[in-house]
Amino acid sequence: MGASRHMVTDGSNPDRDGTEASAGARRGADSVRAPWGHAVVIGAGFTGLLAARVLSRRFARVTLVERDRLAPGTTHRSGLPQGRHPHGLLARGAAVVEELFPGMRNELAARGAPVFDFGEGFATLLPHGWAPRASVGVKVQALDLTALESALCDRIRAEPAVSVRDGFVVEGIRLSPDRARAVAVVGHDRDDPGRTQVVIEADLLVDAAGRASRLPAWLTAAGLPQPTVRRVGSPLVYSSRMYELPAGTAPEWLVSFEMTYPPLVRRGGAAVTVAGRHRLVSVIAPAGELPPPRDEAALRELAGGLRSSHFAHVMANGRPVTPVYRCPVGGNRWLRYHRLGELPDRLLVLGDAFCAYNPVYGQGLTVAALQAQHMGRILRRADGPAGLARRVQRRAAGVALFPWLTATAADRGWDRSRAGLGLSCLRLFLGAVLRRVPGDPALYARFARVQNMLDSPFGLLRPAVLLRLLRPARPARDGGPLR
Ligand SMILES: Cc1cc2nc3c(=O)[nH]c(=O)nc-3n(C[C@H](O)[C@H](O)[C@H](O)COP(=O)(O)OP(=O)(O)OC[C@H]3O[C@@H](n4cnc5c(N)ncnc54)[C@H](O)[C@@H]3O)c2cc1C
Repeated sequence: MGASRHMVTDGSNPDRDGTEASAGARRGADSVRAPWGHAVVIGAGFTGLLAARVLSRRFARVTLVERDRLAPGTTHRSGLPQGRHPHGLLARGAAVVEELFPGMRNELAARGAPVFDFGEGFATLLPHGWAPRASVGVKVQALDLTALESALCDRIRAEPAVSVRDGFVVEGIRLSPDRARAVAVVGHDRDDPGRTQVVIEADLLVDAAGRASRLPAWLTAAGLPQPTVRRVGSPLVYSSRMYELPAGTAPEWLVSFEMTYPPLVRRGGAAVTVAGRHRLVSVIAPAGELPPPRDEAALRELAGGLRSSHFAHVMANGRPVTPVYRCPVGGNRWLRYHRLGELPDRLLVLGDAFCAYNPVYGQGLTVAALQAQHMGRILRRADGPAGLARRVQRRAAGVALFPWLTATAADRGWDRSRAGLGLSCLRLFLGAVLRRVPGDPALYARFARVQNMLDSPFGLLRPAVLLRLLRPARPARDGGPLR
């Protein structure tokens, strides 16, 4: 904090678009329903938006602070680089979004995001063959992350208790004198040339700043220890571009995915129907194996070398409508805040800021959604914000655990020397399931429910499933992939 900078304390936080008086009137009405004071959420990404919605049911006021400017409509922004790349929201995550924002599924469908049966419209090429083409009774929706977040943000802006303070960069947090609880965030408005420091007081503080979270450094600055970190790296990079297919040439698939599974399968791809004839296509490969973004011919050649022809087909027949964007997956990283005894009260960390995964397994959004949902359940039973952060953090860790185990068991394939006995066993089990799924539609139906987090992974440990795994793998019985 530069001594020459001004400082203002912003305990009231009027809505940027509203007047202080009208914000005050709204607060008056809300405080009857939700008397807990003021919650502040850092980051208006997917996690922050869901967290703000949950908190607005208990707190009189919620301020969602975001360093980017949030323009209306579906606009890409620098704080959401992953928005340029294909995303899938698992069925369980979609159900939580629908629960928190009723009608969202239909709203997205009206904007062009089709809803379909996972087994029928989602073409999945596993390490040993295509997943069967058969209904599995699991409904999913094709997803454009930027469009989803814009729609969520529109809804959040309409919440009377929530103020969205965009263009605000958080620089640190304030703790009580005994460092036992978080009391404020400190930051500045991005467009303020003087970078006047603004203190926003909070009765609860949620860090949802994603992988960019600087909370470990802020804890150090406050004289507190940092959480320990677990990491399992991945060298993968997404290289993505949007194409428009000519009229009448739409493929049968709505989403296509070729799974990487190191060391057996080092390269893969993903393609998503974004709206109408637009397909967002990605080639996924280790960093050193991708051509430079401008070398379209080399990227097509790489796509042509994949086992699935879907990606090369769109690239050859579609009209590119964006440049090629690159994004490293960043590997799996878990900051163990739930084990940090000195973590101040009234401070919690959710989403990628807490635990981030290699995205090829499609789990990050659903884990964040479940963490927000569990926070809501804990809030409902609590009398006030004191003491609940630790409970929420532990629950968030419980939600993160299985996805962490499956992602890291698979990614130990990049560096098998580091896999312990537990992960090696899990990898063997996962390998046995993946090998048999292409030839066993009944197993696939179960696997699809677990993959979509609708059923517990323990569902795969039932005797009926284990017996199937003892049989030799059968050849694929799917009548070929979707075209
Ligand atoms: C290429 C790629 C593909 C992926 N595919 C999938 C998929 O198919 N399925 C899936 O479930 N997940 C996928 N993921 C993961 C998913 O995108 C993330 O898990 C999710 O978006 C994380 O959301 P978040 O809100 O926690 O973090 P973020 O989206 O990173 O949001 C954090 C927000 O905080 C803001 N912020 C940061 N620091 C500050 C500060 N100091 N002050 C104010 N604001 C700040 C940022 O600007 C940002 O808006 C993918 C990720 C990548 C990279």
